Amino acid sequence: MTEGQSQSSKSPRVNVVEPVPADGRFALVDAHMLGLKGYGGLYVLKAPKPAIVETGFSHTVPKALRALDELGIAPEAVAYIAVTHVHMDHAGGAGFLAERCPNAQVICHHVGAPHLVNPEKLLKSVQRAVGPLFPYYGEMRPVPEERVIAVRGGERFELGDGYALEVIDAPGHAPHHACFYEPRTKGLFTGDAVGIYRREVGFILTTPPPSFHFEDSLKTLDALRRLELKWLYFTHYGAHPEPYALMDEYERRLTAWVAAIEAAWRELGGDEAAVIERFVREESGSELARVYPPEVLRAEIAMNVTGVLLYLKKHRSPPSS
Ligand SMILES: [Zn+2]
Repeated sequence: MTEGQSQSSKSPRVNVVEPVPADGRFALVDAHMLGLKGYGGLYVLKAPKPAIVETGFSHTVPKALRALDELGIAPEAVAYIAVTHVHMDHAGGAGFLAERCPNAQVICHHVGAPHLVNPEKLLKSVQRAVGPLFPYYGEMRPVPEERVIAVRGGERFELGDGYALEVIDAPGHAPHHACFYEPRTKGLFTGDAVGIYRREVGFILTTPPPSFHFEDSLKTLDALRRLELKWLYFTHYGAHPEPYALMDEYERRLTAWVAAIEAAWRELGGDEAAVIERFVREESGSELARVYPPEVLRAEIAMNVTGVLLYLKKHRSPPSS
């Protein structure tokens, strides 16, 4: 885990830190998830009590440490590592990063916290969910239980100078999902609760198995809309203004996505493989093909359709055959 630090002083050093327009003390670090630029990352908040929001995968951790170095933050000074949920693109690096930042406490939703302490079950579940993309996901190392703060929503962690992280329970994408509201910048770390947003293609749905829940997602969006917001800090990807318009658009896209999958599921008499094939075919001709290489596109679509199908089987009447 040290390659990011042992770079030769002769090689040109490219900064890993991207400025966040909302605040000069916030930085975004691109994790190059799935090999893609500007697809997934983490945030470093250079407050008196520094915090890192999201960790990326285990192989993102050297980059996170380089970012701390660029920002002049000693790893020992990091007070909090906050993860929105325990999917590996958000929390896979938590155990490794906690080792390197020995004084940081790890903030995590109480439903997900046991998986940080004992990641074995989670690793198996991720492997099932992401299939051929699993090699991108790295590994996990347990976080010592005494360093995990399991949160339920309503907690507030002061970072100094008016910065803070306020926890908002945000189920839907997963039951172990929290968002973090930062009151000084009126910004929200969305995790996956408001989907994946890239300016050039708009929203990409993220509805993975095993526990995507449509109504919970809508309830969470309603709760998030009640906050006083200026910015959404997407893990996928970056800080964007116009938070309410974006949340409205995401709700429309999510509702249409679930309705389209339900319609296909009924039309095809519950044949899940056929439903997945139909969406893989349709989306291969869409904007998404500009974002993902073909094998990643296929796996992503299959995963997100599977998540909705699981939800439909649990919560809707079966298709009449
Ligand atoms: Zn997720």
